[in-house]
Amino acid sequence: MLSRAMPDAVLLRTERLTRAYGSLLAVSDVDVSVRRGELLSIIGPNGAGKTTFFRLISGETVPTSGRIWFNGADITGMPQHATTRLGIAKSYQITNVFPHLSVLENVRVAVQGYARSFNFWSRADQLGDVRDRAVATLNSVGLGTKIDMLAAHLSHGEKRHLELGIALASDPILLLLDEPTAGMSPEETDATMGLIRELAAGRTVVLVEHKMKVVMGISDRITVLHQGQVLAEGTPEEIRANTRVQQTYLGASR
Ligand code: ATP
Repeated sequence: MLSRAMPDAVLLRTERLTRAYGSLLAVSDVDVSVRRGELLSIIGPNGAGKTTFFRLISGETVPTSGRIWFNGADITGMPQHATTRLGIAKSYQITNVFPHLSVLENVRVAVQGYARSFNFWSRADQLGDVRDRAVATLNSVGLGTKIDMLAAHLSHGEKRHLELGIALASDPILLLLDEPTAGMSPEETDATMGLIRELAAGRTVVLVEHKMKVVMGISDRITVLHQGQVLAEGTPEEIRANTRVQQTYLGASR
């Protein structure tokens, strides 16, 4: 169903999105718009509903009520394999990497899996295309010199970059990043911030992140969730200056 209510500049929009678990409203009446090409961060204290919101967008969780539009289509309640086909990819906080495969194989499998689901490359002589695309993807996440290494031998930061490569294998329109710098050293965090900025130059990115330095440094806009609801939204400067945000969240997380 096409939505006339969604201007072209908006890639993703939720309207009164709600997910209840029993009497608990994990996400409650959330209206969020993500513009094409922007990097939006979702922040909020533990239990604010960030992960649930992500799972609703990716199709891992079905909303109790409300609607989700993506790229002109109503995707409310669509399963994850369907949202992936429409161009939504998610990089997980929990590692998605096969440790006993090489770096290249990890991404090649992801490229091939996605291609097969479309029957893009059904002939064996086109497997070279799959390899080329996997190598290009690995170059884009800074792992071009490590393609033959076993994934198990990568550092933690490099594994997270490989996960990014796996998510990028489907060439998504919207990239969802779940705490992309979790568990990283300050150096790895800085390198990953730089990488996300580069990746965001060519696509739309929504990320959930706890580290304020990361969020303030790379976001175009920030949405603050609190107890399942939108507490505030705005540019990093507006969020930093927002008294309600300072009182309920920022003060505690600095
Ligand atoms: P964190 O920063 O700690 O990851 P969050 O902002 O991602 O938190 P959610 O994980 O979305 O928050 O959880 C929001 C609320 O919904 C919490 O109270 C959580 O306990 C509850 N919740 C989430 N998933 C489920 C579930 N499958 N069953 C029951 N309750 C759930």
